[in-house]
Amino acid sequence: MQLQQPGPASGGPLQLVELPDPIPADDELVVEVSACGVCRTDLQLAEGDLEARRLPIVPGHQAVGQVVAVGRSAEGWAVGDRAGVAWLASACGVCPACRSGRENLCPEARFTGWDRDGGYATRLTVRADFALRLPAGFADLAAAPLLCGGVIGYRSLKVSGIEPGGRLGLFGFGASALLAIQVARHWGCEIYVFTRSERERRRALALGAAWVGGYDERPPVALDAAITFAPVGEVVVAALATLERGATVAINAIHLDRIPEFRYELLWWERSIRSVANFTRRDAREFLDLAAAIPIRTSVEPFALAEANEALARLARGEIDGAAVLVITD
Ligand SMILES: [Zn+2]
Ligand SMILES: [Zn+2]
Repeated sequence: MQLQQPGPASGGPLQLVELPDPIPADDELVVEVSACGVCRTDLQLAEGDLEARRLPIVPGHQAVGQVVAVGRSAEGWAVGDRAGVAWLASACGVCPACRSGRENLCPEARFTGWDRDGGYATRLTVRADFALRLPAGFADLAAAPLLCGGVIGYRSLKVSGIEPGGRLGLFGFGASALLAIQVARHWGCEIYVFTRSERERRRALALGAAWVGGYDERPPVALDAAITFAPVGEVVVAALATLERGATVAINAIHLDRIPEFRYELLWWERSIRSVANFTRRDAREFLDLAAAIPIRTSVEPFALAEANEALARLARGEIDGAAVLVITD
């Protein structure tokens, strides 16, 4: 399913095309995809809110499948292995960011489904050293949503500075928050969930949230950290207003239109606002280990590959419960 020209999700911007089977470069694998998660970033790319870096492009950066070819110099993988392909497709390895364990900030970083063809396909190539091993406890379909929403949610938890037992606010309660709450509960955190949706509030309570409310409501206590998942600038300010002194709002969004002006008082006392950009392979490995240990439960809504436009349109209309996943059969 290829994007040639961005447009409204309701108009079906992706087209089903037949491409030649990919051949791996020396350092790459070819993965036969069995499942690929549908992410809000794919929607933003398809609709043009996130500027395309290359057109045409096959979206999809939460792909799970089986290695069917191994490049000549690719190490550590064999045909038949199960592999995950996530957002970070490569980084330079030599810049100051890469050398200081922050490859997510590498200026030369390339991304799956943005710079290179992604997982809305029967096959894709991945650099062997950026492919991820997946815990055995997860079926392909259940593992797919872990690869973006899960890992980014985990990095957001780290960036927010939340500590075990702390009070954490989650603003918005979609696919990524559903996974983050399970990690935070595992750490013994007290969770405050802010969302407009009654259905999401009920789900948050079922997953152990201590309190639920709307974006404009104030929890009964000040929070030690907050993560915003809603791609709305006002929500960042609302989150800031709930924080304890010295606490951080982590913004889990690759695209945000703007943050409205607010009183400096809200930021005073060393409160901070931080964005969360991509993730490192280390984040992914740590999160996947944790996901297996907890174990994290994912709730997925399956679509056929040819229904990718439908999945994006439903995501745009807020009609997806949990995570949409394309189930791919050759
Ligand atoms: Zn680099
Ligand atoms: Zn994503």
